Amino acid sequence: MIWTREAEEVVNKVPFFVRRRARLEVEKEAARQGSDQVLLKHVIDCRQKFLSGKQSDSKGFQIETCFGSSGCPNRANGSEELAGDLEKMLLSRDIAGFLKGRTSGELKIHHELRICFSDCPNACSRPQIADIGIIGAVRPRVVDTCCTGCSTCLPACAEDAIHVGAGAAVAIIDASKCVMCGKCIDTCPSGAIEEAEKGWRILAGGKLGRHPQLGKEMEGIYSKDEAQEIVQRCLDIYFAHNIGGERLGAILNRIGYDQVRSSALPEPT
Ligand code: SF4
Ligand code: SF4
Ligand code: SF4
Repeated sequence: MIWTREAEEVVNKVPFFVRRRARLEVEKEAARQGSDQVLLKHVIDCRQKFLSGKQSDSKGFQIETCFGSSGCPNRANGSEELAGDLEKMLLSRDIAGFLKGRTSGELKIHHELRICFSDCPNACSRPQIADIGIIGAVRPRVVDTCCTGCSTCLPACAEDAIHVGAGAAVAIIDASKCVMCGKCIDTCPSGAIEEAEKGWRILAGGKLGRHPQLGKEMEGIYSKDEAQEIVQRCLDIYFAHNIGGERLGAILNRIGYDQVRSSALPEPT
């Protein structure tokens, strides 16, 4: 959709990590008003709506992504396919209908269940404060027989997780420091660092508001199917235990995070 210069100028003042969502909302507002271009009026109307907290057309959830798909060189994993599958899953659960039965008045932004993707551990889209945060990850592995101990890979790691062992003189990765960004893999001139595993790190229970908290990470790196299973489990818990439209984090604080990791179905309240 074409944007007028005035509309662009205003939306560009929105913080970068929510700008993508803001642009989509403004474009939806313009389309709703029957326009094929975005005018300043649409930005203002959208802002008014946001300030009043009203989401009359809310699906009851939001799936947000970072700018990884626009060609970001830091991308460890691409979220498009998993995000699309999760969107279908969430739509099939009618979260808006569920929330409307547990809240009074119109659904507001803070009621929505938020799933947030970052395609690498830089986490530009702030997955730590979403109900479910999903972070692209690559676990590196050094092939000792190929490593010459040249140390070229050391400065590539911002976490200081790689060392060249004194005795064997091969690179060693400290798993407790590695955030699985995968940056070291392409820097090795001998191809001695390989991709051992590619997937997703998952956090649950993050939120802002009066009682903010960061999501707790489910230890490990998960495949696309495993990530879907975990989100499914979070939804089962959300539906079984939700009191008054509360956030997933409030529920997990009450019942514990173990059920997210467990394969057993949650006990209804
Ligand atoms: S989270 Fe990573 S992949 Fe996504 S935009 Fe930020 S740096 Fe790029
Ligand atoms: S994956 Fe990233 S954090 Fe881990 S060792 Fe390589 S560069 Fe360091
Ligand atoms: S750059 Fe490659 S060969 Fe050199 S120390 Fe690192 S892993 Fe070994």
